[in-house]
Amino acid sequence: MFDATIDYIKELYGNPAFVGLHEPRFAGNEKQYVADCIDSTFVSSVGKYVDRFEQMVEEFTGCAKVVACVNGTNSLHLALTLVGVEQDDEVLTQALTFIATANAISYCVAIPIFLDVDKDTMGLSPDAVRAFLEKNGEKRGEFTYNKTTGRRIKACVPMHTFGHAVRMDELIDVCAEYNISVVEDAAESLGSYYKGKHTGTIAEIGILSFNGNKTITTGGGGMLLFKDKALGMHAKHLTTQAKLPHRWEFAHDEIGYNYRMPNLNAALGCAQMEQLPLFLEKKKELAQLYRLFFEKQNIQFVTAPEHSDSNYWLNAVILNDIKERDAFLAVTNDNGVMTRPIWRLMNRLPMFTRCQTDDLVNSIWLEERVVNIPSSVRL
Ligand SMILES: *Cc1c(COP(=O)(O)O)cnc(C)c1O
Repeated sequence: MFDATIDYIKELYGNPAFVGLHEPRFAGNEKQYVADCIDSTFVSSVGKYVDRFEQMVEEFTGCAKVVACVNGTNSLHLALTLVGVEQDDEVLTQALTFIATANAISYCVAIPIFLDVDKDTMGLSPDAVRAFLEKNGEKRGEFTYNKTTGRRIKACVPMHTFGHAVRMDELIDVCAEYNISVVEDAAESLGSYYKGKHTGTIAEIGILSFNGNKTITTGGGGMLLFKDKALGMHAKHLTTQAKLPHRWEFAHDEIGYNYRMPNLNAALGCAQMEQLPLFLEKKKELAQLYRLFFEKQNIQFVTAPEHSDSNYWLNAVILNDIKERDAFLAVTNDNGVMTRPIWRLMNRLPMFTRCQTDDLVNSIWLEERVVNIPSSVRL
């Protein structure tokens, strides 16, 4: 079983001994820019590549202001801090996500509440958020409090799974009704659009990741995306230890962070941004090939929901049940084709077993069936 799938995927990549899940591609000016950066000696937190990289992402996403960070997880931590998440607050998010989403909430000493996803987007369901708030939310003064725990529900973090956009309009509407801030985890969705708007630019703040396995990479890196320019400027200040500009003096006006992206990483990022349109074209072409192939195999292939122009960061298939999923994982990985199940639900992890959830019907269904398949750009 699945022999045809293994042969097809290997053939797509030119029949190597091993096909990885998502490998970076350096086919442009990477070496030139990194060498130039080293020659300049400005490899650390100051330099022209950081400014240039930020400008390129600003232009690409149509965002008012962006701030380059050391990674996506820290970007998310800072975003939550900026919307006012404090110790003992609660933050609504999806149970089906990568651990970084939940960890960033924990860095604020806040408590995640894990809600269900939509079956088609695999991202946070606005219906689940509404149902949870109608049952558990209580508006007192300016904010919404959880009737069960008494804690304030301060923020909500939707995540655009594998590059497919969450139903943002509905989500933003329900969160506005309860005065809950929205931070978009767009770590996986650079180049994905929701109703024509770049993901991560729809809510107040969004974040991107440039980790080695993402659509483009800076080695390690992340970015904050802002609608409000002034808030973005403040974020930049916070990522550089909140140091006040002065020729020699060390003066700081609040508790800041060392979250700024080094120039060396940004040099890599500039070269990668130049290739992003090509990468996206190739990723969509690959998804189309997969769609046609899996149709013939009678295996369900995950395609973009109607409202989403997806980047197809990671392609995915949906097997019939957990037994078939495990058989698929075993035979592909045994034969040099790397595949991986979707994440284990956050509420099953030891740090989060005591967190509140809803019934998670769709999350559990997807957890048992979804497998990622090789998705590197084919050049
Ligand atoms: C990759 C990723 C992040 C951020 O990861 P970093 O490795 O810290 O850049 C955050 N959330 C999700 C859903 C991710 O996939």
